[in-house]
Amino acid sequence: MNRRKFISNVLLSSLGSGLALNSLGILEAYANPQSNSRHSRPAKRNAKSTEAQGEQLDSHVKDAVNKAKDFELDYADDIYLSKRQSVLLRSILQRLTRLQRLVGYANFNLISYDSALLYAKRYSVVGQFTKREIALIEALFVFDASNYGFLGKKVSDNLTDTIARKDVKKIAGSGHYLYKGDALKLYQKLKKELNSDLILTSGIRSVVKQLHLFIAKTDKSAGNLSRAARSLAPPGHSFHGIGDFDVGQKGLGAANFTSAFINTDIHQQLTDLGLIAERYPESNPFGVRHEPWHIKVIQDA
Ligand SMILES: [Zn+2]
Repeated sequence: MNRRKFISNVLLSSLGSGLALNSLGILEAYANPQSNSRHSRPAKRNAKSTEAQGEQLDSHVKDAVNKAKDFELDYADDIYLSKRQSVLLRSILQRLTRLQRLVGYANFNLISYDSALLYAKRYSVVGQFTKREIALIEALFVFDASNYGFLGKKVSDNLTDTIARKDVKKIAGSGHYLYKGDALKLYQKLKKELNSDLILTSGIRSVVKQLHLFIAKTDKSAGNLSRAARSLAPPGHSFHGIGDFDVGQKGLGAANFTSAFINTDIHQQLTDLGLIAERYPESNPFGVRHEPWHIKVIQDA
């Protein structure tokens, strides 16, 4: 028996209809909970009382928290893209990677959706996005991410949101930008109070940048959206879009985004300072793995 749950292909042709999306494939996960799932969801889809709905919500959160502990595992009730969508996703991923190469790593962090489409059309080295690719991107953006286990809130309402250059500052040597104001002030404070080994590993991410990261992770996860979302906020849901940033220890490279970061001097100093709030602490209620490197700037969450 194929136990995977797929987002229906109809998703591609039902843009703008969240209700239709939700009624396809996703509710199926509630209707047919897997008895052999390590953390199955309760089959309470017709719960009538508020109390029962509350319990269902509670169990939904607990389920997400448990799965985030072993975030790289596949779970029986995870939600997958269909094969066809996975092929399209790979094509989008490659196109965005070519676009990143064209505009440069730092610029790509800020690029808007409309600019991305325009560059792709204008430069044959990237190539125009196809209608089906655009449909999948837009469907992924409007699709309610809580259906595949990401319980954080959406912070960018529009796929076409733009970032004004006048509002941001490039951080020398990092390839990243920070918003002027609270984010920049906090980063400068950290640079001043911690030793020089503190580096900015990720700053502002436009919706397109987050899309690129999220689909790369989904591609690596064989189309498992739930698994991808345990490590990366889906496009529109990242606080990197509105002010948060990641820090690391100089010389640690990509391991700055792993639990190895916990054993660094920089992490120790951050903890000792006592000023740093993590966006995704251990057992956070959003279904996201512990991210000790992610600095919470935006307090309204
Ligand atoms: Zn982060």
